[in-house]
This record gives sequence, C-alpha cells and structure tokens, in this order.
Amino acid sequence: MRMLQRVLTQLPKEHWMLLSLVASATVYLSLLNIKPDPKPAPLPEMVEDLLKPPAPLVINEPEPVKPQANYQPQQVVLQRGQSLARMLKPFGTSHQDIHQISKLIKPYIPANKIKAGQIFSLGLGEKKVESILFDWQFAKQLHLYRDTPAKWQIEVVDLPTKTESRFIQGVVTTSLYDAFVPHGVSHDLLNLYMTTFSHLVDFQREINPGDSYKILFEEEFMPDDPSQRKIKQLRYLELVQQDTQLSLFHYTNAQGHKAYYDENGKLADAFLMKTPVETGRLSSFFGKRKHPILGYSRMHKGIDFGAPIGTKVFAAGHGVVSKIKKDRSFGNHIILQHQDGYRTLYAHLNGFADKLKVGDRVSQGDIIGFVGNTGLSQAPHLHYEVLKGSRSINPLSIKRASSVQLQGEDLAKFKTHQQALLAEIQ
Ligand SMILES: [Zn+2]
Repeated sequence: MRMLQRVLTQLPKEHWMLLSLVASATVYLSLLNIKPDPKPAPLPEMVEDLLKPPAPLVINEPEPVKPQANYQPQQVVLQRGQSLARMLKPFGTSHQDIHQISKLIKPYIPANKIKAGQIFSLGLGEKKVESILFDWQFAKQLHLYRDTPAKWQIEVVDLPTKTESRFIQGVVTTSLYDAFVPHGVSHDLLNLYMTTFSHLVDFQREINPGDSYKILFEEEFMPDDPSQRKIKQLRYLELVQQDTQLSLFHYTNAQGHKAYYDENGKLADAFLMKTPVETGRLSSFFGKRKHPILGYSRMHKGIDFGAPIGTKVFAAGHGVVSKIKKDRSFGNHIILQHQDGYRTLYAHLNGFADKLKVGDRVSQGDIIGFVGNTGLSQAPHLHYEVLKGSRSINPLSIKRASSVQLQGEDLAKFKTHQQALLAEIQ
C-alpha cells in the first residue's frame, strides 16, 4: 500500500486509475477482514484544526473484558509460512483444541488468511493454553478461551474508541486526490465524498484547478493509539466550482432514514437511492471481483453494505413490491418495480417489514426489511442491485434526481440542524 502511494506521487496523470486500484484493493481486503495497513503513518497536524477550538469528544466506553483468571501471559508472533496449529503446538494444544479454535475463528477470519507478523496474546494455565487474544479489525479483538476442559468459546472484544469531529478544506491545483493528500486522511474519506456527490458530479471529467472543497466529518480513533483511525460519517460536504456551489447536509429524517439533503431540504440522491440502508459501510463495489465464498472471479451485479443484523432497509425509490422470496443464494430478498423498467433487489435480509406483500405500493425511504446473513453470505450485509430490464447497472451511476422533499416539522428540524452544521465550520 505504501509503495503504491509513492508511485501515486510520481505519476500525477495516472492518479485516478491507480487510486481506483487502491480503492478496490482496500475494498477487497476489507472483504477478507484484513487490515490493509495496520499502522498508518501519523497524521500531520492540520492548520484548520489548530485555528478552531477543540471539538467535543464523544466517549464510547465498552464493557470491560472478563478478567482472565491467573494465567501466565505470553506473546507469540505468527511466523512466515507458519500455520496457527504449528504456532500453538509448543503450548500444549491438542488436535481437538486446534480443530475447535480454527472452527470458531473461521466466520471472522479464515485461519489461512491470518498474516505473518500477527501478534497473539496467550494466557497459559498449567502446561496448556487457556486463552488467546488478537487484533481483528479496527478497535476489535477476538478472544478465544477454554470454557470447560473440552470446550472453547469465542467472543469479540470492543476496545475503547473516541469520536471527534474534524473539518478539512482545500483547493484543487492538479487533482482532487492531490488536494486531499496534505490532510493525511484515509482514502475512505475521498471515496465517501465522491460517492455522495456521484449523482451530481462526474469526478473523472468535471474537476478543474481552482475548484475547492470543504468536509465536516466524524472520525473514530483509539485513545491508546491515535494513529488507528476510521472515518465514521460525513456531516457536511461542499464543492465549489467557478460559479456553482454544491452543499450537502447529513440529516436523519422522522422515519429514521439517514441521508444527505441539499440546502432546501430536498433529498440529495438519485430517484433510486445509492444507500438504501439505515447505517452501513459500502463494503463491495459494482463490477468484477473474486467471490468471497465461491472463490472464483465473477461479476458483482450490485453493491454491498456491511451492517449489523436488523439494520433497517429502505425502498430505494417509489415503486411496487414485485417479489418477496427466500432462496439458496439471495436468502430472504425483495424486488421492487419502479418507473421506466427499473427494478431494485435487496438480498440476504433477516426479515421483511411487517405485512409487506407482493403488489404493495412503497415510497422512496419506506422501511421494507432488515439486514441479515441469509443465503450465500458470510457476514451480515445488504446486497443491493439495480436492474434496467434484465441488465444490472451500477447504483452509483444513476443521475436522475429524487423528488423527495422534507415537509412541515421535518423540514423545520432540518433547518435547525443545517444552521448548527454551518456554525461548526465558521
Ligand atoms: Zn453483493
């Protein structure tokens, strides 16, 4: 990853192609639950941040981990070419132990995907391993422990994180990518910025020197290691080009749908929403990719959002329910029929909205179901597809605007929220 970044700075004209390579590599790695670069370079201090009063901190203190009896702690590092079984063998692990441990870890990360250099903290009892703890994802560890002499258990340990609000701005001199680099922010931020504006701006063609951007966003970090950071949410984003200014405000409407609205409270999305899910991280883009379960390369006909089971799924646009079904690959899924031959599909659902049935009319943003892990799915996520006739199209490529406009009390609440956001960047 670092090497690619160096290449990027040497080849300005290739930025966009390489950036998309980096982005797809990141997405692919996140599919495998592997951190592409566990220790990113420390962030440079930003002038904007120094000029502003310190942002309020939201502290998210998780439940403390169960104390680990009186085991002898020992750290081991997985060596290149070494299997988990071989690493654990000197610590009195039986075949049965290894079998159980591998099976328990597998839904989180396949044992053969654990990289050399990964550190494991072992708790050693009398002659054998009683517990194993290791970093899994941002601010998450996996903890395996011997529950009874013959039975292992696994749990996810949430490490304490803090969330801070940050504001960055810049002017494009060569490319938008170059204008982001000085802030030392993650690629996710640029990806999110472009995705959110994707129905309004063609970033490949329409960005010119002199254009400027502003972003107010929330970032999560680990107080014990502030270099470990994760973009949480964009709150305000702006793009100024010659005589136009695009401004989007993140807002949660009365139905609980989180989305971006323009300055007048009009839903800033296409007539088929890009993100028809309450919360969730875009974890896989549209296009050719290696299937995480089937292994071979195939076309990914939609986009995926990783989200907890039970997260609300919304109708992407006005339409009629044409299918509610369960099958082997899509699991529980819904198909909506929209205007002009467009259809949307929502797969791997845990369940459907109460009383929803074929023939029902739905409006953009109505709750139709809940995120699940049914069918060919290895982690809770929404697989979202847009079809025109029988052809799958990239949901992020749809330009036709939504007609949804906040009304009445919801609009008044939005206006108050809008003023608060603008006050934060003054
Ligand atoms: Zn998918």
